[in-house]
Amino acid sequence: MGSGQVTDSSAPFDFQGKHVTVAGLGVSGVPAAKVLHGLGARVTVVNDGDDERARTQAAELETLGVTVRLGDGATLPEGTELIVTAPGWKPDKPLFTAAHEAGVPVWGDVELAWRLRGRDGRKAAPWLAVTGTNGKTTTVRMLASILKAAGLRTAAVGNIGVSLLDAVTGDEEYDVLAVELSSYQLHWAPSLRAHSAAVLNLAPDHLDWHGSMEAYAADKGRIYEGNRVACVYNVADKATEDLVREADVEEGCRAVGFTLGSPAPSQLGVVEGLLVDRAFVEDRQKNAQELAEVSDVDPPAPHNIANALAAAALARSFGVPAAAVRDGLRAFTPDAHRIAHVADVDGVAYVDDSKATNTHAAEASLAAYESIVWIAGGLAKGATFDELVAGAAKRLRGAVLIGADRALIREALARHAPEVPVVDLDRTDTGAMLQAVQEAQRLARPGDTVLLAPACASMDMFTNYNKRGDAFAQAVRELGA
Ligand code: ADP
Repeated sequence: MGSGQVTDSSAPFDFQGKHVTVAGLGVSGVPAAKVLHGLGARVTVVNDGDDERARTQAAELETLGVTVRLGDGATLPEGTELIVTAPGWKPDKPLFTAAHEAGVPVWGDVELAWRLRGRDGRKAAPWLAVTGTNGKTTTVRMLASILKAAGLRTAAVGNIGVSLLDAVTGDEEYDVLAVELSSYQLHWAPSLRAHSAAVLNLAPDHLDWHGSMEAYAADKGRIYEGNRVACVYNVADKATEDLVREADVEEGCRAVGFTLGSPAPSQLGVVEGLLVDRAFVEDRQKNAQELAEVSDVDPPAPHNIANALAAAALARSFGVPAAAVRDGLRAFTPDAHRIAHVADVDGVAYVDDSKATNTHAAEASLAAYESIVWIAGGLAKGATFDELVAGAAKRLRGAVLIGADRALIREALARHAPEVPVVDLDRTDTGAMLQAVQEAQRLARPGDTVLLAPACASMDMFTNYNKRGDAFAQAVRELGA
């Protein structure tokens, strides 16, 4: 970790009369175009698609005086001085190649929000930022809950529902923001400088977008650039610590680890059922501060305790007292479909972790239970399942496989857990989940957990992971009826 001349580009940027191209209509593009237009920029929106929805959005923007080009997201409009892109646009698009050749900067929605903080005499709230392959939403919501318990005006924003642009340009004033950032957003946020930031974990994901694991890691690592107080990393995931080492931060900024084990100095960890802080205390060689009990974390699964520790580290870096960490964690309720306990039926627990859409997430939830009937499958998105299955084999009572790519999981089970009974469901209609749950019930013994942790995306059978989780919960209710 070096501390160099970190340039703070939060200096006001004058948009008046600037030719700004907004790449992509949609959740970030339309509000960005409106805000930029309001700041006096001459805005052109370019969009690949030309469907009904795009036309409606275009018509609305055009009445404001924004130019919209539908069906052509590739050509750089004449005179463009800045591009503001939707975060999902791939960096190798011709529009960006053209921008690069013309020396035109490209910002994402997060960069735009960062540059607009503190305008018009508003308070520029510092950001506590979180990224990682899994656990971002949970950690950011825990963090916001802790900050609220400390009496701070805050919100959970970013890649989580509430847009950063709304948070920085809206009427509400904040003392600090709990910000979830995706690797895409970080890619397009060159001047972001968080107060403190955490990378929770790093496993291969979205590699088709980033081009390589190195590029993905480098984009995640951008979150540490210019941190002022703490770079929070996962002691169990060396890749996150490496990113801290490579980051250029403000003088005095510290590396702070979180661990499920007993914490070394400058770490937060777990000692005898307590979450403890050995980083933000006087004389950390000798002292530790109790923050909360492990049972204050809901659910108290290992990966979720890690999320709580990361949230606590960020909050503590902002000066939050220990009691607020405890109160904030107690007040926190997990989002739906994330290790949600649906019901106990005949001594078997039914748990919905439909949000485990990749193998890294499923690995964490399988690690949280002793004896499991696992419901898995869906769209594999190029993943392989050997490591996941080998790691969980000992805890599997049985498996019920659903969805398009279930054969990949079945083959991994045959290789690494040949003793485990497997039910392979060759149907994708609406009744499939009920049958899956009934098969799981047949395999389960009292004390077991039937765990929906598909390790796959849901879109082959369901509109999204919420609907998949809802179908599971409905099926469980039918069992109990
Ligand atoms: P994200 O916002 O990064 O997608 P969520 O908090 O929504 O993360 O959790 C998504 C899923 O990832 C959860 O359902 C759980 O299975 C898994 N998960 C949560 N936290 C972790 C973690 N720290 N490590 C590994 N997996 C996790």
